Amino acid sequence: MKKDFFRHSFDTVIIGSGLAGLRAALEASEFSKVAVLAKMYPTRCHSTAAQGGIAAALGNEEPDSPEWHYYDTTKGSDFLGDQDAIEVMCEDAIRTVVELEHMGVPFSRTQEGKIAQRRFGGHTMEFGRAPVRRACYSADRTGHAIVFALYEQCQLRNVHFFPEFHVLDIVIEDGICRGVIALEIATGRIHIFSSKAVVVASGGYGRVFKTTSNAHASTGDCLSILLDRGLPLEDMEFFQFHPTGLYGLGILITEGARGEGGILINNKGERFMERYAPTIKDLAPRDMVSRAILSEVKAGRGINGRDYVHLDLTHIPRKIIEERLPEISTFCKIYLGIDPSEKPIPVLPTAHYAMGGIPTDIDGRVLMDETGRTVVGLYAAGECACVSVHGANRLGCNSLLDTVVFGRRAGKAIKKDIKNLSLEDIKDEEIDRTDSILESLLNSKGSEKIGDIRERMQEVMMDDCSVFRHEDTIRQAIDELEKLSLRAESISLKDRTRRFNTELLEAVELRHLLNLAQAVARSALQRRESRGAHYREDYPKRDDQSWMKHTFVFKRENDWKFTYKPVVIKRFQPEERRY
Ligand SMILES: Cc1cc2nc3c(=O)[nH]c(=O)nc-3n(C[C@H](O)[C@H](O)[C@H](O)COP(=O)(O)OP(=O)(O)OC[C@H]3O[C@@H](n4cnc5c(N)ncnc54)[C@H](O)[C@@H]3O)c2cc1C
Repeated sequence: MKKDFFRHSFDTVIIGSGLAGLRAALEASEFSKVAVLAKMYPTRCHSTAAQGGIAAALGNEEPDSPEWHYYDTTKGSDFLGDQDAIEVMCEDAIRTVVELEHMGVPFSRTQEGKIAQRRFGGHTMEFGRAPVRRACYSADRTGHAIVFALYEQCQLRNVHFFPEFHVLDIVIEDGICRGVIALEIATGRIHIFSSKAVVVASGGYGRVFKTTSNAHASTGDCLSILLDRGLPLEDMEFFQFHPTGLYGLGILITEGARGEGGILINNKGERFMERYAPTIKDLAPRDMVSRAILSEVKAGRGINGRDYVHLDLTHIPRKIIEERLPEISTFCKIYLGIDPSEKPIPVLPTAHYAMGGIPTDIDGRVLMDETGRTVVGLYAAGECACVSVHGANRLGCNSLLDTVVFGRRAGKAIKKDIKNLSLEDIKDEEIDRTDSILESLLNSKGSEKIGDIRERMQEVMMDDCSVFRHEDTIRQAIDELEKLSLRAESISLKDRTRRFNTELLEAVELRHLLNLAQAVARSALQRRESRGAHYREDYPKRDDQSWMKHTFVFKRENDWKFTYKPVVIKRFQPEERRY
């Protein structure tokens, strides 16, 4: 070893300090020595930005049941969700929320002191009869409240945190995961973490799109690393657009705003969701509401003929907005100078959530292929993973639930597996490979700028591969992405030092984003039907005959390969999705 590399060994290494990573860390800390690596300061993960709530059929405000939650999630997923996983999640939801409460999460309360609940898109009672209050919340800072409670619990259990450590590689040898290689951002030094088990909990990749609610750090690094390592990604064509992003900015206005009674209005003053979803109207699932908004805009019914509609909260008492939606109310004032109690909010769909990701079994073990073989010692949970509970479209509040339920299950799976996992040093060749990639970026002499390529990629994905898609536009996107990937080979950096070189990290992230953008576009090209968030104008119908299956995309050299895995159907047969 020539350079000052630092070696560490842990039983369990967790990539990401979001809710999935923290919950997995807590579980694994009961029986193993745990490290959590995060490229940001741990409590600055995107989970902290979650506003609206976490779903559990507590029935505190009206009758509810896990079975209805199971049905809603399946129907919301446009029947692509695997029902064994959905059943597990919905059955475990009540215990999960009570556990979080006991860990110190300050949930908002009803008059009698129970955990308060509000309405959210696609949450219904009696199998779709009427909306139900199922979302448990801490005003509109639910993610923040849960992250801090879990972070404190991890501190109590001596979990080792490595803040601002950027993971560059996940080492897998002959189907066995050996650990990770990371860059300490402050010093620019490389650290090697050998471990028996690695949990990938690195969140989403909304930054492939121009308009997004996602944090700047949501670049999907680890998905791309695993793709390059020959592992598949599942259902990448399904990317959720949230209906209500602040116009021009993409900053999220929680669905909780509609849960509290907010309505969407077009330029005629019409509550247009009555036409698209007569039963639950503005509380229809996100894929439907996003398409409805963009259809209104296309038909010339955007406000003042422009490309946005209004989210109107002016009829909701100011006290309720101040108590239950303080965060979004502040956002509207700061970013648009609008007081939502007085004026409607201009909104447009914003790229929000990746339904697809690293395929896992229901205990977080990462799948090698569609046959169910797993990678020894490698686990994934949270938004980066695809279990799949969300199928083609996620319901609001089911992601926070997913992170905590499946983060915990990954921890439990490691407990079962650990006696068969061994700790071995990561080979020097692996470290040299990573280091030489960094060196070549630092010494690059090209003329291309990172920002230009990233911006163009985000535009292409937004214009050609977002809410509405067509074979022609997707092909156009793929061509352009290929060109951009070539251009990315000849970038040059202004900062050639190692310490706190954020430009270097942006270069690394750009490669990952381009990789994932291609995975999305190519998977979207294959799926010749419309389902959930994947809407093909050239194939506008859902096709259960041919497409009740999950896409597995692999990258082989410079080629892409697709295989498919059947959907797990248990209780609920596919039916037409009416709301
Ligand atoms: C604005 C907003 C509001 C939302 N509101 C809700 C809601 O109300 N209810 C709901 O259910 N869902 C909501 N969601 C979705 C939900 O918050 C996320 O899907 C979920 O929090 C993701 O958690 P996670 O643990 O998977 O990842 P994250 O919280 O995104 O954490 C990822 C972690 O991985 C680390 N990381 C990533 N790459 C690397 C790397 N290369 N090296 C080291 N570390 C790395 C990051 O630093 C971070 O610590 C919302 C999402 C957004 C964007």
